[in-house]
Order: sequence, then structure tokens, then C-alpha cells
Amino acid sequence: MGNPIKHSKSPAIHTMFAARTGESVHYEALLVEPGDFRQAVDRFFLGGGRGLNITLPFKQEAWQLADRLTERARLAGAVNTLWKDDEGLLWGDTTDGVGLVRDLICNHEQSITGKQVLILGAGGAVRGIIAPLLEQGPAHITIANRTESRALALAELFDLSGTVAACGFAEVVGPFDLIINGTSASLQGECPALPDSVLHANTVVYDMMYSAHNTVFIQWAKDRGCIGIYDGLGMLVEQAAESFSIWRKIRPETIGVVAKIRSGLI
Ligand code: NDP
Repeated sequence: MGNPIKHSKSPAIHTMFAARTGESVHYEALLVEPGDFRQAVDRFFLGGGRGLNITLPFKQEAWQLADRLTERARLAGAVNTLWKDDEGLLWGDTTDGVGLVRDLICNHEQSITGKQVLILGAGGAVRGIIAPLLEQGPAHITIANRTESRALALAELFDLSGTVAACGFAEVVGPFDLIINGTSASLQGECPALPDSVLHANTVVYDMMYSAHNTVFIQWAKDRGCIGIYDGLGMLVEQAAESFSIWRKIRPETIGVVAKIRSGLI
């Protein structure tokens, strides 16, 4: 459920998961009008629906609607996965963060443990990735945002162990082992203004945005000779796989699905 929703790759991704796992699944994109979200969720489950993914602009509303939240969803303040338990309680989870972590670790063989991490942005997507990243035991996380106060608010929320700090882009002091772009700057053809000193020879760079062409941020990293450069397609597929495994109790294979989307087959 979302608005807009036509662009969503989720129906194709979940249909491929169903084929690969032998599960009988019908997954479609539902356009929901603003103001009709709660009723749409009710109609869906009353009609026999088993699980929902929620995208913009309803992730916060879904968080409020859920009877029970997983711990990571509670911290994220947003929900992208809904389902009902045997007692009819509506559960909410967020799978974006674990999707990012799985993509980095399982698909790209990058460790987060002990690493100096820089996160760019302090919006909804970034709030959802901090707890799963912290679970991996990084040495330190710096959150840098155009509006510094939003980065500070996030750091305050998550800094229970002195591991998370915040600043504006101009104050970032590197270098970092891993830089994650969680801003939507690429959508406007822009790149957060960072000094080259954020990079060292082996810095891994990850843009949460996915595009068929290089994003401005990916191009920035390429121009500076970075070697480990990844976009958010794997994260998109991994967050879907996590939702699928919550609903169907079986984890689908993801590498082939990423490859199919990458090659333009879906
Ligand atoms: P929000 O609107 O909640 O936050 C946007 C963030 O980007 C804010 O921190 C904002 O800074 C910053 N920003 C926007 N424009 C610029 C700019 N020109 N220069 C610098 N910073 C800028 O968006 P979301 O958090 O929901 O999404 C962020 C990105 O993450 C999107 O590109 C989205 O596609 C991607 N994403 C990818 C997923 C995946 O599965 N791969 C899943 C979810 C999100 P400020 O606070 O100053 O306004």
C-alpha cells in the first residue's frame, strides 16, 4: 500500500520469491488515498489478506495503527510490514535496516563490526537503519545531515553507548571505513557537500537509492577512485525477503532476483 504505488517493484519481487520457494502467493500494489489508510488495512485483512508492505506516505500511520511493534520498528518510528497473529493482533515491523545490513554483509561481504561509519541524512530511512547497524557493533557512527538539528535528534535517540554522534556536512571529520548515503539528494541530482578527507583507500560507499544509471553520489565515489561502491537495489530486495520470511516462514534466495532487476528483465 502506498501513494504513489505504480512504480513499485515489490509485486515483481514477491512473485519471484513465491516462484523460487514454491509458495502460493498473490501480491499486488494497492493505491490508497490519503485519509483512507486505516480503512484500507481493515478491508485488506477482513478480505483474507495475510500480510502488507507499507510505503510512503503511510509508514508512520502504520506504526501508530499496529497493536504490537517489534523493537526495531519501535525505534524506527515507522513500519513497512504488517501482519496479524493468531489472536488477531496487528503486528508492525520495519525491514529496511536489516535489508541494508544483509545486503552489505551477505551480498557484498562487507563487515560493519569495528568500523567507522558515516551516515548521510537524518530522515525516515536513516532512522530505520541505525538500530540494525548498531547491532553489528561498529566502532562509531557519525550521522551528518544538511539540517544539523535533525541529525542531533537522531543521535540523541540512539546514542545509548556513546557510539553515535551527529554534525552538519561541513563539520564531518574523517576518514571513514563505510559511508552510507541515506539522503534523497540524488533524486534532485545533488550530492551532499563532503570533503575528500572522509575517504581512505578502502572506504566502502553505499547509496541507499537505486537507479538504473549512476546516482550523483555513486559518481562522486567513482571519481575519487573508490573500489567498494554499491547502490540500494540489494537493500530493496533484502527488505522484501525479510518481509516475505515473516509472512511465509521461509527465506527466499535474493541474488538471482537482484540480477534479474539489474539486467532490466523486470
Ligand atoms: P526523507 O524525506 O525522510 O529524508 C530526506 C533526507 O535527505 C533528509 O535528511 C534531508 O535533509 C536529506 N536531503 C534531501 N535533499 C537533500 C539535498 N539536496 N542535499 C543534502 N541532503 C538532502 O526521505 P527518506 O529518509 O524516506 O529516504 C531517503 C532515501 O533513502 C531516498 O533516496 C530513498 O529512495 C532511499 N531509500 C531506499 C530504500 C531501499 O530499500 N533501497 C528504502 C528506503 C529509502 P534535511 O533534513 O536537511 O531536509
